[in-house]
Amino acid sequence: MIAIAIDGPAGAGKSTVARKLAHELGYLYVDTGALYRAIALYMTAHEVDIDSEASVEPMLGGVKLELRYLQGEQRVFLNGYDVSEDIRRPEISSAASHVSALPAVRTFLFALQQNMAVEHDVVMDGRDIGTVVLPKAQVKIFLTASAEERARRRCAELTARGMASDYAQVLREIQERDDSDRNRPIAPLRQAADAVLLDTTELTLEQVVARAQDEVRAALEREACVKNAL
Ligand code: C5P
Repeated sequence: MIAIAIDGPAGAGKSTVARKLAHELGYLYVDTGALYRAIALYMTAHEVDIDSEASVEPMLGGVKLELRYLQGEQRVFLNGYDVSEDIRRPEISSAASHVSALPAVRTFLFALQQNMAVEHDVVMDGRDIGTVVLPKAQVKIFLTASAEERARRRCAELTARGMASDYAQVLREIQERDDSDRNRPIAPLRQAADAVLLDTTELTLEQVVARAQDEVRAALEREACVKNAL
């Protein structure tokens, strides 16, 4: 199986790039942030203290997550309900960053993510895919951009979904999330030693996708050469 790991902070363009690559290659696209978001949605709906491992862990037994694909689009089902839109609410973004710092939540999602890569060729995006979930991924890309540019992109995305946005607030939330994702003790957001760094601040989406495609092509060619040599 082939795995492509795309990591980076919020709003760096991971999902757009990952979705495009998956579509082109015919691989499964797995947005792992959506899984953390679905857990955050469940915990907040049940008024659980999202910073408390002791409160969150026993509730995980009531969480059944499924990714289904409708017309090539990933949809997230929580206990049988499609929550793909609900998990995009800004307060869920922040709650996801809290629950994702809990070891019980990371363990709960680890197997689910790994199993997908056992069964399918995948393009998986997240924070710890190249470092923890799929350390043997054939291609690893770390996408980043300045916080200001990422906040601008997030506002445009929210507007396109018909949701209100306030730039200063979005920027503050992105900075808080970066800080918590980078500094948590387990599976912090960081570039894997063997990942290619792509700073997208000054690049258009098309340029980012083209650069990622070049990396993937080169890595898959290397992979084929190694196989042929054996
Ligand atoms: O990628 P997205 O912004 O949807 O992720 C929401 C939150 O889920 C992130 O801020 C991060 O805290 C968490 N996350 C994570 N590990 C992943 C994917 C997401 O900790 N692999």
